Amino acid sequence: MKKASTATPTLKTRTNKRRSFVRAAYALLLASATGALGVCASGRVQSPEPKVQSPGPGVQGLGSGAPIMILISLDGWRWDYLDRAQVPRLRALATRGVRSEGLIPTFPTKTFPNHYSIVTGLYPEHHGIVSNNMIDAAIGERFSMSAPTAKDERWWGGEPMWVTAQKQGQATASMFWPGSEVSFGGVRPTFWRPFDDDFPNRQRVQAVLGWLRLPELQRPSFITLYFSDIDSVGHSAGPESSEILVTAAELDKEIGVLVDGVNDLALTPRVHYVIVSDHGMSQVSTSRVVVLDDYLDTRTVDLIDLSPGVGIWPRTGTAEDIYMALKDTHPSLTVYRRADVPAELHYNTHPRIPPVIGIAAEGWTVTTRRQLQEWQENGRQLGGNHGYDPRLRSMHGLFIAAGPQFRQGATIPPLENIHLYEMMARVLGLKPAPNDGRLEMTAGVFKSR
Ligand SMILES: [Zn+2]
Repeated sequence: MKKASTATPTLKTRTNKRRSFVRAAYALLLASATGALGVCASGRVQSPEPKVQSPGPGVQGLGSGAPIMILISLDGWRWDYLDRAQVPRLRALATRGVRSEGLIPTFPTKTFPNHYSIVTGLYPEHHGIVSNNMIDAAIGERFSMSAPTAKDERWWGGEPMWVTAQKQGQATASMFWPGSEVSFGGVRPTFWRPFDDDFPNRQRVQAVLGWLRLPELQRPSFITLYFSDIDSVGHSAGPESSEILVTAAELDKEIGVLVDGVNDLALTPRVHYVIVSDHGMSQVSTSRVVVLDDYLDTRTVDLIDLSPGVGIWPRTGTAEDIYMALKDTHPSLTVYRRADVPAELHYNTHPRIPPVIGIAAEGWTVTTRRQLQEWQENGRQLGGNHGYDPRLRSMHGLFIAAGPQFRQGATIPPLENIHLYEMMARVLGLKPAPNDGRLEMTAGVFKSR
């Protein structure tokens, strides 16, 4: 499971440290907001009941019979796990709905940029979450997934689906999603809770069922649900491991509890499940490592992103110095000036994109000499990673759509995730905000009208 702290330390240790920091940050935030948010003095959320933001004027629940969508993310679920693992409930949804041969992520194939592309229909260069870690001179802060600044709305461009729905009078709910804690000009999901990866999966499902149990006029039409387990295990044990199959089967049970609960509420004729992942996973190895110090004095640069996508800002010297130092050095590291990143990656225009971008070849890790020495001292093995070129098959994620408006038993070719916002807006009868996606790209998902 997600907290499987393996005996063999892996790349994930860094993520676990990050998690601890996230938890500490949330505990602080919650403690400071005790009372107002209804949390206990320890800073832990005690009640399974979600936070409620009173809906704005005109925001109501659904009319009787209106469509409902549950958007579920299984973070880091590579497309092939669906056929490799014992996941009868997910396969049943695919059988009564549509699956794609893969969901193609945006570059970089990382968690925050892709979750946000899925709900906005925008490439990262247009929505501004250009990586999990970024700097912005205008904001003057460093963005990381775990930092409080990640909740500052100045980082988040575009319009996520829950804001689109709220603005058009529908209630929404979020059982976690990157961006769901951000106020968009005062607009948030009707129901949401601060991210806490220790919040048990079963309680996440029960919270969603709780929202669906609300009276018709308060019930949300758009709900997100997020699980991190597969990504964590993919990092620690690798995508080909038996642990992946075990974790996939565990998550499948949670999907089953959700589907059964929706059945018990007699909402199946209205509910549309859209099950996605943000990216896939590739096996990495300590025998495939690029050490940046071999080519560059790393003290002269700000390594905002390290592996396998490398984002570099100069501290001293110029971006051109960095580019010239790294260009054509290691055969498994391709280096670009921001303006020269291939057009297919849509990663040129946003000022938060670092001036020098490196992309490691599949399965390669980019690091510094110091970090490599630490790994060697700790005997660290590398499991899996993502962040590579989204055109690689190993980076493709999961897409299943099941519900009354969707076709039954269809398999469609790999689909870019930026097209899902338009698709979801159509299901819910919403006018989409401007975005990079095209509705016709998901024509194969819908029953013909
Ligand atoms: Zn990950």
